[in-house]
Amino acid sequence: MSARERIAEFHNELTNWRRDIHAHPELGFEEQRTSDLVAQKLAQFGYEVFRGVGRTGVVGRLRVGSSPRSIGLRADMDALPIEEATNLTYRSRHEGRMHACGHDGHTTMLLGAARYLAETRNFDGTINLIFQPAEEGLGGGEAMVEDGLFDRFPCDAIFGMHNRPGLAIGKFQIRTGPMMAGGAYFDITVTGCGAHGARPEAGIDPVIVASHITTALQTIVSRNVRPIDTAVLSVTQIHAGDAYNVIPECAFIRGTARAFEPRILGLIEQNMGRIASGVASGFGATAELDFRTLFPPLVNDAAEAEFIADTAAELVGAENVNRNGNLVMASEDFSFMLDRRPGAYIQIGNGDGLGGCEVHNPGYDFNDEALPFGASLFARLAERKLAPG
Ligand SMILES: [Zn+2]
Ligand SMILES: [Zn+2]
Repeated sequence: MSARERIAEFHNELTNWRRDIHAHPELGFEEQRTSDLVAQKLAQFGYEVFRGVGRTGVVGRLRVGSSPRSIGLRADMDALPIEEATNLTYRSRHEGRMHACGHDGHTTMLLGAARYLAETRNFDGTINLIFQPAEEGLGGGEAMVEDGLFDRFPCDAIFGMHNRPGLAIGKFQIRTGPMMAGGAYFDITVTGCGAHGARPEAGIDPVIVASHITTALQTIVSRNVRPIDTAVLSVTQIHAGDAYNVIPECAFIRGTARAFEPRILGLIEQNMGRIASGVASGFGATAELDFRTLFPPLVNDAAEAEFIADTAAELVGAENVNRNGNLVMASEDFSFMLDRRPGAYIQIGNGDGLGGCEVHNPGYDFNDEALPFGASLFARLAERKLAPG
């Protein structure tokens, strides 16, 4: 019986697990119930279970045979601070929290693979199942790496996946090299000199300075970044002042930058600093830039991207695996793990039917029809990587 056939036999159970997790969403680093559930299932399947790796992270380890080879398979567990707007029977029972990115599905798919692999034990080596917390901008991937993830659980290669609304069930999409953008947040503090709104000559107006800086920042992507490179710089907040008749002392500019190469994020940072302080000094004000790179770009190793695409093709047919998927401007913190170990990250179809909803939308729901495909892909990655000699 193939992995896909065996896993299909417990599709109903997978669906129940997924809906149970969906009903009890937890934010990053608060995944207590979720990590309890994961740990309990892993122990029940016969895994060695390690809690508290990167705070609420869990690793399940299964060794079979004597080969020193190893693989890491990773899923994320956290939800988002969104009020769910669906009428599902298993809708969120936690006010203001929701599994709106499908991490309930990702966790369930990896648990499905865990169960199958422990039952069949058709491999020779070590499988490390990595259940990471806090993917949504809180640094859970980094926290696990900093906690010695790959020293404690060596992995020859690591693999992850994310659902993609708009891509049909049973289809996969990937690309080699950079696939998802690295992301940075920035704050610029403009300091002028406060004054009465009717006596501007007595002050230095930081509102005017912030406006000029915001305009000048638009030239970084258009004039400093090569036209053939991809980058985005968005000013998303400008805050200044509290009164109609007061020129404030300070103004605050905030936003985000994204690019597919650390070099380009560096170039954006450097030019932002120059423009902000140069424009400010032209007005007699000062500007200070705080630029924080949150995620490195997600880069798929060429050989491992081919390996995961071949494994997906074996499962669903070559015609259902797009190996030249689009670049994605969003970020993904599996990049911290891919920075340390070779591996690849693939997108799995969440359905392309009408009413399919984007992730991070209050109407979103993970599609349970995708569960056996994702679980089978995880399982086959392990079986093929650690094939008995
Ligand atoms: Zn998300
Ligand atoms: Zn996500």
